[in-house]
Amino acid sequence: MNFQKNKDEVFQAVANATEEAHRPQNSVKIIAVTKYVDSSIAKDLLKTGIEHIGENRVDKFLEKYEALADLKLTWHLIGSLQRRKVKDIINYLDYFHALDSVKLAAEIQKRANKPIKCFLQVNVSKEESKHGFMVEDIHQAIETIKNYDKIELVGLMTMAPFGADADQLKDIFSKTHALQKELQQLGIANMPFTELSMGMSGDFKEAIANGSTFVRIGTAFFK
Ligand SMILES: *Cc1c(COP(=O)(O)O)cnc(C)c1O
Repeated sequence: MNFQKNKDEVFQAVANATEEAHRPQNSVKIIAVTKYVDSSIAKDLLKTGIEHIGENRVDKFLEKYEALADLKLTWHLIGSLQRRKVKDIINYLDYFHALDSVKLAAEIQKRANKPIKCFLQVNVSKEESKHGFMVEDIHQAIETIKNYDKIELVGLMTMAPFGADADQLKDIFSKTHALQKELQQLGIANMPFTELSMGMSGDFKEAIANGSTFVRIGTAFFK
């Protein structure tokens, strides 16, 4: 695999999408999702000049965290986290993208040594199989989470259903964007809600058109 070429292509495509959306060039951060490869291959990709790394499983995250300690990286856990594993990982990550229950928030509150930047995961598409809060449950959840000083809600994360068409993507991403703005307006101290984690290899253009600030890209780096 020619990682320099793949990296340049992904970054260029994100830059193009950002420009087409009439947004500032530095407003979208790219997370390289390395879950498909082992640490040494991930390292070859990251050395091309990538700052953000994402893993979706606790064990793989910790394995790479140790193996890649000499690289200067920002660490994202993008997949769901079981409560019993919170203590193993919570103090190593920079961003957690899949806060999907108040019980999980309570466990983070108990185990974290410092405020953790979290995204509330929302299930906008109402897929049965997806994790995340239903939109109608969010306000109640933040009533509790606003008392947790170890949680900083930086934004919302969502995933579109596999194979969604352009109209569905627009619907899901624009609803998530509108909800983010609404929550930001509340002005709650530990809830800046300035960020949106949306967009993967297949749908980052639509996500950027609808305000995404973090795209999570895997496949496109490894072809
Ligand atoms: C795997 C994964 C991605 C990356 O998906 P690609 O289609 O490979 O770009 C993004 N987000 C989450 C939560 C993932 O598990």
